[in-house]
Amino acid sequence: MNDFFATDFTNPWHFTLFTLTTFVIIFFRYLFISGVYHYVFYKLFRDRFKKRVINFKPKEIRQFRTEIIRSAITSFIFALSGTILLILWQGGYTGIYLKWSAYPLWYLPVSLLLAMLIHETYYYWLHRWMHRPKIYRLVHKWHHDSIETTSFTAFSFHPIESILQALMIPVLIIFLPMHLSVLLLFLIIMTISATINHAGIEIYPAFFNKHWLGQWIIGATHHDLHHKQFRYNFGLYFTFWDRWMKTESPKSDEWFEKHAKN
Ligand SMILES: [Zn+2]
Ligand SMILES: [Zn+2]
Repeated sequence: MNDFFATDFTNPWHFTLFTLTTFVIIFFRYLFISGVYHYVFYKLFRDRFKKRVINFKPKEIRQFRTEIIRSAITSFIFALSGTILLILWQGGYTGIYLKWSAYPLWYLPVSLLLAMLIHETYYYWLHRWMHRPKIYRLVHKWHHDSIETTSFTAFSFHPIESILQALMIPVLIIFLPMHLSVLLLFLIIMTISATINHAGIEIYPAFFNKHWLGQWIIGATHHDLHHKQFRYNFGLYFTFWDRWMKTESPKSDEWFEKHAKN
C-alpha cells in the first residue's frame, strides 16, 4: 500500500500503465456483470418483461457489437477519470479518507446517500439538456440507438456523454468526504443500477411501485419507457425529479404492473 502511494501517477509511464490496467478491470467487469445478469436473470424471471434471451440474429449481433465497442470506449474514459481521481487523492485535494474514526459511523451511509442524491440531480438535469435536439444528435443519440435495450446497453454512450458522466465523480469527491470503501460501493451501485435499468427484466416485486420506498426507485420498466418514449423518465436511481418536474411517463405504473407479475 505504501509503495502504491509512493508511485508518481503524474509520471506519463505510470499514468498510462495505471489507466490501461483500470480500463481492463472496468471493461471486463462490465462484460462479466452484463453477461451474468442477462443469462442468470432471464432464467430466474423467464416471464417478466421481454420474453427473449439475446439471440444471435444478424441485426441483434450488430447492436450487441456496437454496444460493446461503445462501452469499451466509455470504460477507457472512466479509467482516465479514475487515474485523475487518484492523482487528486495523492495531492490531498479530495475528501477520500481511510480511517474509520475520521467521521462518525453514521456518516458512512449518509455520505453514500448524499453522493447518490447529488449524482441523481446532476444526471437528471444533464439528461434533460442532452435531449435538446442539437445536443441530442451530437451527444446522446448513441445511447438511444438501442431502443430494445439489454444489460449490454449499460455503458453504451457517445464519448462526450461518457466524459460528462465521468467528470462528476472527481468533482463530487473534491467536495464530499467519503470513506474509500463507501466510494467503491457507490461505483459498484452505479454499475449494477445501469445494468438493472437496461436489462429489460423487471426484477422488483409487483407491489414495488406502490410501496412507500419502492415507488422512488427506478427499475427496468421505468427506464425502458425512456428508451421507447424519449420525453419521459430521465432519472437515474430515483423517481423524485421526474415526479417533481412532471416528466414521469403516464404509462409508468401500467407498464410496471404489466411486467412485474409472473
Ligand atoms: Zn435519454
Ligand atoms: Zn438508457
